Amino acid sequence: MEKLISVKNVYFQYPGQEGYALENVTFDVFAGEWVALVGHNGSGKSTLAKMLNGLHFPQKGSVEVCGYELNEQNIWEIRKHIGMVFQNPDNQFVGTTVEDDVAFGLENQGIPREEMVNRVIEALKHVKMEQFLNQEPHHLSGGQKQRVAIASVLALRPSIILLDEATSMLDPKGRAEVIETVKTLKERYQLTVISITHDLEEAVKADRVIVMNGGKVFSEGVPKEIFGLDEQLVQLGLDIPFAVKLRKALQEKGISVSSQLMNEEELVNELWTLHCSK
Ligand code: ADP
Ligand code: MG
Repeated sequence: MEKLISVKNVYFQYPGQEGYALENVTFDVFAGEWVALVGHNGSGKSTLAKMLNGLHFPQKGSVEVCGYELNEQNIWEIRKHIGMVFQNPDNQFVGTTVEDDVAFGLENQGIPREEMVNRVIEALKHVKMEQFLNQEPHHLSGGQKQRVAIASVLALRPSIILLDEATSMLDPKGRAEVIETVKTLKERYQLTVISITHDLEEAVKADRVIVMNGGKVFSEGVPKEIFGLDEQLVQLGLDIPFAVKLRKALQEKGISVSSQLMNEEELVNELWTLHCSK
């Protein structure tokens, strides 16, 4: 598989802060993956996100994005390849209308007017927001705002989309809308997705999970491996998925269930087959 991001032994310390915000961080991201990045508040996730977008540079170690080594000369090239969506929908708008907002990044890249208009409409169609073209962003719901933010990123045709808690301020409906939108776009454009999230039901469905703790990579693996660490995650201050909690509670009561189960559907099926159909 093609390696799109390679982070090697990266250290980063904020001026005047004690200790590292990132300490010897190493991981790779491959083309087409959905990687969930999880960890307690302050574990360094946003610092890492900002580094991948060239807002911070490694003080030791190296970062490569789409074949470009992260340095002052390459940040504009790198920013074409990686689109970011942040937590607060209200802080992401620069335009007075939805259309202007999506056009902004394209204008910055000097895209000709006609192509710009086409790309804006196309991107808004993909997030099902084309009918809001002339609306003022503050009239939109949180989920709609984040979908416009995704359209702004998408219009730039990136290879990677990085969501930094992009759904955490949304209600369950808005959250589902945004994740569904990203999933559809990922398939359609073979995007690579890095999602910093507290939403375990989302992380369970990722291809790979990276757990950060105190600025370091604590663990990485497929969701089954990571959520199999249950007690260790709880000690890091992380929650574990509902199905895993329920499975453990059943096991404590002496009801045998496979330790591989990650979601409610698998759990219900197994309980039904093992214990109810006799
Ligand atoms: P997370 O996104 O996982 O919550 P952050 O990357 O925001 O973690 O923070 C990692 C560490 O860096 C924390 O100790 C935080 O207090 C510190 N930090 C984050 N941003 C700044 C900043 N702008 N200046 C100084 N310290 C910061
Ligand atoms: Mg953060």
